[in-house]
Amino acid sequence: MNITDLSAQELASKIKSGQLSSTDAVKAFLDRAEKENPANNGFLTICNKSALIEAANIDSDISSGKSIGILAGVPIAIKDNISTKGIRTTCASKMLENYTPVFDATVVEKLRKEGAVIIGKTNLDEFAMGSTTENSYFGPSKNPLDPSRIPGGSSGGSAVVVAAKTAPAALGSDTGGSIRQPAACCGVVGLKPTYGRVSRYGLVAFASSLDQIGPITNNVTDAALLLQVIAGDDPRDSTSSPEKVPDYLNKLANGVNGLKVGLPKEYFADGLNKEVKNAVMSAASVLEKAGAELIEVSLPLTEYAVAVYYVIATAEATSNLARYDGVKYGFRSKKDNSLSELYANTRSEGFGAEVKRRIMLGNYVLSSGYYDAYYHKAQQVRTLLQQDFSKAFNECDMLICPTIPTPPFLIGEKVDDPLSMYLSDIYTISANLAGIPGLTLPFGKAGGMPVGVQLLGRSFSEEILLRAGLVIEKASI
Ligand code: GLN
Repeated sequence: MNITDLSAQELASKIKSGQLSSTDAVKAFLDRAEKENPANNGFLTICNKSALIEAANIDSDISSGKSIGILAGVPIAIKDNISTKGIRTTCASKMLENYTPVFDATVVEKLRKEGAVIIGKTNLDEFAMGSTTENSYFGPSKNPLDPSRIPGGSSGGSAVVVAAKTAPAALGSDTGGSIRQPAACCGVVGLKPTYGRVSRYGLVAFASSLDQIGPITNNVTDAALLLQVIAGDDPRDSTSSPEKVPDYLNKLANGVNGLKVGLPKEYFADGLNKEVKNAVMSAASVLEKAGAELIEVSLPLTEYAVAVYYVIATAEATSNLARYDGVKYGFRSKKDNSLSELYANTRSEGFGAEVKRRIMLGNYVLSSGYYDAYYHKAQQVRTLLQQDFSKAFNECDMLICPTIPTPPFLIGEKVDDPLSMYLSDIYTISANLAGIPGLTLPFGKAGGMPVGVQLLGRSFSEEILLRAGLVIEKASI
């Protein structure tokens, strides 16, 4: 048995039954990370010591017959913009290079409560702004399937460690596609839950009305397992939802018989790579064979989504990032002769180019004279985009479409062309603007790389997406 080939669920059941100790499981992943990480840069921090201590504690709980959680002893990686008590949380920024939180994010608290072992913190684009991890202060991560290609982003490190099997599962965050796009690039499964399904408490905010935490895993079952653990209402996040958390695992094998699946025609238009299209169409026919009905639907405002997102996300980022001023958190410039000089120099030296670009864009769209023309208008179009989805979901139960329009591009290919980089988010961004859930899973190939098939659903319909995902996954094995 190769331990690092086991899924999170398999690890949990072997550890529970005593076939495998948590210590051996954690050691196997740490050893593999030591070998692979220098090349793929998936982890920014590897918790060699604390992970083994946590694993030993779980092993002694098991041998003394204590009751254990559903992830007992299973190593999990966490994106480095999610707070971990006592473990450095950098957001891949010079600004937070030496910041160690004094509290756990709610999702981390929930994972720990179920016995998960935090094995490390993963690389990302600085403050989750980007689609490649090239915006990381600590250098880019490499796609384990082809190191010359981007692993996607911003949760690129989380997708890398799962694809490279240096962790069995990870958490990412998704503001405009940052869980789904890297999962698609690296050939793994990624789930962005409904806005409010998972607490954002302890997630370092990028754009608060869009951000959501979710799992990146090697299969659909593990995505359901992790969602089960992290979902739910949280008094510390007023935007989390009191909606009851269903038993995702129990319903996972219920299939898709009788479901109506929509193909949004705007997601299959110009710019979509042919092989990507073919793979998505074959995944759709898998659902049809399993008893679903395929229909064509329309999301006519899709072409405005990228523009709306880059107004709203930058406006919110501007406000969220105002706290990094050299006084309250992290990096502080040494050139601080006056308060205004301290602010200006701290922010000039502490933030990377993309973060500065977003702060400037955000300030511009919020400034008097432009507010109505950009920010207010974008909010209005956001409402219309939400209505587009509501209309589509009157006709069908879920949508199937590509996650990204092309196979992952080469590292360096688009660094000097932010607009073309932004446009590659075209299929993922609308789900964040509408607040709906999205699941990506690998199916078929394009240009020798796996294709991400995306399933979108009504708010709080993760259960349906996971069921459909499992049907497609079974057909691809
Ligand atoms: N690529 C998008 C951006 O750069 C999405 C990022 C994200 O979801 N965090 O904003």
